[in-house]
Amino acid sequence: MRFVVIGGGPAGVRAASTAARLGADVTLVERDVIGGAANLWDCVPSKAMIATGALVSRARRAELLGLAPLSPKVDLAALSARVHDIESRLAASMTDQLESQGVRLLQGSGRLSGPHRVEVPGHEALDADAVLVATGSSPRIPDWAVVDGERVLSTRQAYPPPVVPEHLVVIGSGVTGVEFVHMFASLGSAVSLIVSRQQVLPRKDPEVAAALETDFLERGVSLLKGARAAGIERIGGRVVVRCDDGRLVEGSHVLLCIGSVPASRDLGLDAAGIELTPSGHVPVNHHCQSVVPHIYAAGDLSGRLPLASVAAVQGHKVAEHVMGLHSREHRHLDYDKAASAIFTEPEIADVGLAEAEAFALGRKIRVTKVPYAASSRALIDGDARGFVKLISDPATGVVLGGSIVGAHAAELVSVIALAVTANLRVNDLAESLFVHPALAEALVEAAE
Ligand SMILES: Cc1cc2nc3c(=O)[nH]c(=O)nc-3n(C[C@H](O)[C@H](O)[C@H](O)COP(=O)(O)OP(=O)(O)OC[C@H]3O[C@@H](n4cnc5c(N)ncnc54)[C@H](O)[C@@H]3O)c2cc1C
Repeated sequence: MRFVVIGGGPAGVRAASTAARLGADVTLVERDVIGGAANLWDCVPSKAMIATGALVSRARRAELLGLAPLSPKVDLAALSARVHDIESRLAASMTDQLESQGVRLLQGSGRLSGPHRVEVPGHEALDADAVLVATGSSPRIPDWAVVDGERVLSTRQAYPPPVVPEHLVVIGSGVTGVEFVHMFASLGSAVSLIVSRQQVLPRKDPEVAAALETDFLERGVSLLKGARAAGIERIGGRVVVRCDDGRLVEGSHVLLCIGSVPASRDLGLDAAGIELTPSGHVPVNHHCQSVVPHIYAAGDLSGRLPLASVAAVQGHKVAEHVMGLHSREHRHLDYDKAASAIFTEPEIADVGLAEAEAFALGRKIRVTKVPYAASSRALIDGDARGFVKLISDPATGVVLGGSIVGAHAAELVSVIALAVTANLRVNDLAESLFVHPALAEALVEAAE
């Protein structure tokens, strides 16, 4: 089986690795660095900077833990070096692993020149029995904005930023936007957030969004609700964002966080017989196959959940399918059961059915909520903000979903994700012998 993968992000890397392990002859084509946007621009640098911000904000609350006041100062050069060091190490370790598995790595831009052929400038054409296209996405830049990389930034110029902005205006209050607000507020910037609806994180549980808004307001973040940005003007060292209702928001820098567009151009997809959706994604079935069965698309390009975690599992499933393993017990990916997290303060994570969604569907649910303030570990750690909410079926006790707002939510939600995927019941959680004192005990309590 000659398997060619175009794009070395989480989807491509995982697909190449699994297929090689299963015995395929694998070539991975990447035009930049192995690891993809996830490693270079998105997940890794954002979370690395948030880790620094978290330490700063924890230090600012040092008195709560019995220390004399601390006032840490950000060293942007050191922070930059750290972010780039993490990226390089991860890229090197992924490259080593793929090479040791026998994956052939080709540097360059790959494109289909026929249904079974991939071309990479400077290399011999590759014949393929199966192809995975996993080229990801890039930030959406509206026609009313000119990104200059100096004061008007896309998410790709913010890690690390040229300076810690004195006053950052963030446009867009989805997951990416609120993470940036949190990050820069922690690093000492004044921040204004333009929120197009009436709540930040418009798709999240209102109670969860409200907890984040409270924290933002306490930290002095200014929220402009019901405002849509419609223009940006640079006036000397200042930037003015004009909203469609006439409001003006002034700052020293502006950051666009209004989503992404799939990287589906110049890949030769139409010549191979694949038509894109109006949004530019490759339509795929539950095996990530396009209309041409041996050409697959995964990750952000597939238009499913744009998460690195999902991209990697899609890549794994594609490799299994390519190698004919789908006939044995093979579970389709259930995107409704994907856990996701927002790395703000408090941290937010959820999985499965949300309370508001259940009400909208008229579905009977049991909701149990336990505040972090009831957790001994949260009190010991000096951060008792937040809650755990568990959603289950009142008739069967099966865990359907949950939301967590509070420290380490992204870690804790995995327990609920496992319960949701494996159809565990609340009793299974309630009778599990967890560590004490640990935040996870709040899950046991919510399950009782
Ligand atoms: C700011 C930000 C933070 C994020 N944080 C998280 C997070 O914490 N957790 C999470 O799960 N998700 C996060 N995401 C989403 C996540 O980054 C994406 O869902 C993920 O990167 C998608 O993976 P992918 O494999 O589809 O593509 P990518 O990671 O985008 O990789 C695609 C690769 O394809 C290469 N490529 C493109 N065209 C070609 C070509 N023609 N030939 C060869 N190579 C090509 C590119 O160079 C790139 O390396 C974040 C996104 C953003 C914007």
